[in-house]
Amino acid sequence: MSKIFDEFKEYIEETNNLDHASTLLYWDMETSMPAEGFKGHSDALAYLSTETFKRSTSEKMGDFLEKLSAKEEFDALDSDWQYIVREMKKNYDEDKRIPADFYKEYIVAQNESGVAWQEAKKKNDFSIFAPHLEKMIKMTAQMAEYKKPGMDVYDALLNQYEEGMDSATYDRVFNSLKEGLLPLLNKILAAKPFDDSKFKQKYDISSEKAVEKFLLDYIGFSFDKGCTGETEHPFTLNFDSKDVRVSNHFGEDDAIDPMFSAIHEGGHAIFEQNVAEKLDGTAGGSCEYLGLHESQSRFYENILGRNINFWKPIYAKIQELQPEFMNITLEEFYRYINSVRNSLIRTSADEVTYCLHVIVRYEIEKEIFRNHVPVSELPALWNKKMEEYLHITPPTDSEGILQDMHWSDGSFGYFPTYLLGTIYDGMYIEAIEKDLGSIDKVLEEGRIKDITKWLNEKIHRFGSTRKPVEVIQAVCGREVSAEPILKYFKEKYTQIYNL
Ligand code: ZN
Repeated sequence: MSKIFDEFKEYIEETNNLDHASTLLYWDMETSMPAEGFKGHSDALAYLSTETFKRSTSEKMGDFLEKLSAKEEFDALDSDWQYIVREMKKNYDEDKRIPADFYKEYIVAQNESGVAWQEAKKKNDFSIFAPHLEKMIKMTAQMAEYKKPGMDVYDALLNQYEEGMDSATYDRVFNSLKEGLLPLLNKILAAKPFDDSKFKQKYDISSEKAVEKFLLDYIGFSFDKGCTGETEHPFTLNFDSKDVRVSNHFGEDDAIDPMFSAIHEGGHAIFEQNVAEKLDGTAGGSCEYLGLHESQSRFYENILGRNINFWKPIYAKIQELQPEFMNITLEEFYRYINSVRNSLIRTSADEVTYCLHVIVRYEIEKEIFRNHVPVSELPALWNKKMEEYLHITPPTDSEGILQDMHWSDGSFGYFPTYLLGTIYDGMYIEAIEKDLGSIDKVLEEGRIKDITKWLNEKIHRFGSTRKPVEVIQAVCGREVSAEPILKYFKEKYTQIYNL
């Protein structure tokens, strides 16, 4: 390898060390820091991340990327490094186009907006948040124009979270899913609801933790390359493929939510733990496409975890670990975890109505960036769409438009990736069954790790080096389509609800 390449690698490795320390600080802050440790931690974190940012936007970095992009040097790189250099150059050029003053102003606006959103949600007063939301919309659009000049603003935002996806594709798949789901949901809501009174009991928290560990291990999470922690909101954090951590939230009133959070975050973590080792510490070493990432967590959580066959080989073990389930049969458990309700809150929605919660947000984002609908009209628009799709009107804005934090920090274009993940999942079912036979059977025989191995091989090992459209084409052999997931929903819920 050339001298310039060796120096470049060394420079990246040094930056990675700073990043590693920041990641650890963040994990500690979220999981175990004492309250008064906050200032020391956040000062250190701010220092380290500023240093990292400086290094990644430095003249020196620009010089490395320029030289390595020149034909002779570039041709000498293997395909992974070609991807990494191209990706880093693209990000470097995008960052360089953002004026430093604007960037600073944006960070300040984000923080203020976050505080205002929290207050507005607490007091159920949209007017507290409205001026900040307006500012975030304006500044985020400006940011997109700096980063991707010439591209439609909303498409640029969508691309930030799922590269290669545009609103035309989203429109096509979301509309076909919506058209198929609305009549199905109406039939489900007209059917007899499941009586869940048996589930309202007190659950032992240490048992919930034992169940979490058991489930993570069962689906293929490696405890040699990861560990668990506790936080208010579950998340996954990765250093590199050798250290991927998941957190969970436990409570006496509900033992099922932590199970599905464990399976969901476990899906994210299994992805990261299985990225090829040679990509560790590079721009390809972690999956940066949110739709693709979510397709893994939701595949484990919903497609596998809400299938009765997933539980058949292990339900007795779950009852042993969490004895409160002794009086609940597997069939009752299965009905409970697949109950469909038209509820207000996205994060606690079932897999069917969840899709519509995301579609509401996607359609509103389009109204904001394409039709410039004034911020003051957004709460009413939200409620109108909830009424139209889910037949329920939020009694307060806190349970309506103010429920999620995403828009407060300018994460427009983020929500659609959640649903895109589900749509990919439908497509994986077909591809997996072609190779491994019926998923029901694989699960019933307790061979879920065969599916994990398949996902490792087909998707995980590539990290970010394959774009989502390339993954879908390579794995499923066709362009993205909502038809398979719709078929899955129809078959599953027709049976569950006797439609
Ligand atoms: Zn997730």
